[in-house]
Amino acid sequence: MHGEMTYLERYPELRFDPEKLLPGAQTMIVLLAAYESDKPVYKEGDPRISRYALGEDYHKVLKKKGKQLIRWIRRETGTLQARFFTDSAPLLEREWARRAGLGWIGRNGCLIVPGKGSWFFIAEILTDLKIAQDEPFDRNFCGSCTRCLNACPTGALLGDGRLDARKCISYLTIEHRSEIPDEYQGVWSDWIFGCDICQEVCPWNKDPEKVSIAELLPDNRRISLSWNDLQRMTPELFDELFGSSPVKRAGYRGFMRNISFLHPNRADS
Ligand code: SF4
Ligand code: SF4
Repeated sequence: MHGEMTYLERYPELRFDPEKLLPGAQTMIVLLAAYESDKPVYKEGDPRISRYALGEDYHKVLKKKGKQLIRWIRRETGTLQARFFTDSAPLLEREWARRAGLGWIGRNGCLIVPGKGSWFFIAEILTDLKIAQDEPFDRNFCGSCTRCLNACPTGALLGDGRLDARKCISYLTIEHRSEIPDEYQGVWSDWIFGCDICQEVCPWNKDPEKVSIAELLPDNRRISLSWNDLQRMTPELFDELFGSSPVKRAGYRGFMRNISFLHPNRADS
């Protein structure tokens, strides 16, 4: 169900055995960084970008923090082997987070941290340092709730924490390189990069943990774009606005494809 994301098929041996990423590895330290803020307030009908992508690229921001943490661990323990990852290695990160006792995998497929919600980036330090293991999080507090399943406009959620990526707006507007299939015409009207619906409706996100890393805060220029601005976007402006944000993943071509899929006739409006 991973569509064109053939990279997910690669390196199965690493997915099942992180020691292949770091020979002698003893411990996976799982880290979370909140990215939710009170800032982006879209009006009905405004073009919307998934909130994780409104700040600076988390890969770079968190790697810098991770390296600082590794330096500190080395100073304190003399540990020599450590690697940092965030969405950068074939690891099922939310499952490692669950095993580290941080939360459960909700029906929306996200890691949910009790009392803090699901608006988190997940990162890991794999190290040969041996430390006491946390208890895995073995409970699931979704209960009988099905809000995310009911709210998903494309029926991408399967109900057990898995999703059919081929139907997910996040996949279709970011990772999918071909045209968006016609069957989705009119199914959603505002998401031009990613989709937050199944997290927005989750009751565990009522009072979420807020972002504390300044670079991850939404950039004002990225939340104030009108449909007209977007229609007139040049490759140069796209680079200027999104070159250091996760939005660059779609590329100028993919980004403009998303806009014209939603509003093919708005160029002169
Ligand atoms: S991100 Fe959007 S399209 Fe994808 S599963 Fe969630 S609600 Fe559905
Ligand atoms: S919306 Fe309900 S079912 Fe979906 S992840 Fe949140 S608590 Fe679980």
